[in-house]
Amino acid sequence: MRARTAVVLFLLLPACAPRLPPGVAAPPASAVASSGGPNRSASYVARVEGGVVVFDLGWWGAEGALDDALVELGGTTRDVIAVFLTHSHRDHVGAWRSVAHAPFHMAAAEVDLFFREAAQGGWVPRWVEALNATDVPAPDEVAVRSFSSDTAFAFGPDTVRAFTVPGHTAGSAAYLFRRTLFAGDAIAWSPVTGIRSARAGYSDDAEAARRSLASLRERLKPYPVDWMCSAHLKCAEATDETWEKLLDEGG
Ligand SMILES: [Zn+2]
Repeated sequence: MRARTAVVLFLLLPACAPRLPPGVAAPPASAVASSGGPNRSASYVARVEGGVVVFDLGWWGAEGALDDALVELGGTTRDVIAVFLTHSHRDHVGAWRSVAHAPFHMAAAEVDLFFREAAQGGWVPRWVEALNATDVPAPDEVAVRSFSSDTAFAFGPDTVRAFTVPGHTAGSAAYLFRRTLFAGDAIAWSPVTGIRSARAGYSDDAEAARRSLASLRERLKPYPVDWMCSAHLKCAEATDETWEKLLDEGG
């Protein structure tokens, strides 16, 4: 019984330390939708010129969570004009039906994975997918706009900068928006190590993911970055210390 309590506490621990940058959960400009189980999955939504952009689409319960976050922006799913996916694991695509009218941006190497026309790499997602296939769209149900190298999208005075960071999945991407980097599962967090790079088992290639982060650090140098957030509500200030933790091979 005591062991079971310990396990439950351990499972809940990652959910106990959400630390969001002040500018991310800041209605009516931006808000966060949280969905899924103990390791909550996030959609970050922000009002831009012409509508709302959404980063990632959460897990189970994501459609209601997204609706609530959009209400905080004074909007609805109809206002969403662009979706940016960090990757297509099941806990990041939950609300796709709600926003299927908007273009879905993702790295080119993620497209077949998103449509489940290619198999997941990491053994955990592959095993879970085999047990219970994720509800994903057919290729003709959403308009995918893919990018194969770093690129940028302008929304009036705002810019979403997209960076390819393969490793967690082949087509993992990170997005810099209003000085916060939304890195999906390219960055992770554990109660033992704090912020760290992508987790083995859940990733195609955790070593490649770490190399991508090392490269990303250089590619981000022209731009101001204040915070970095995973898609599981774990954020850290983008300091040298944070980068060193992310790039630590023992992490
Ligand atoms: Zn993932």
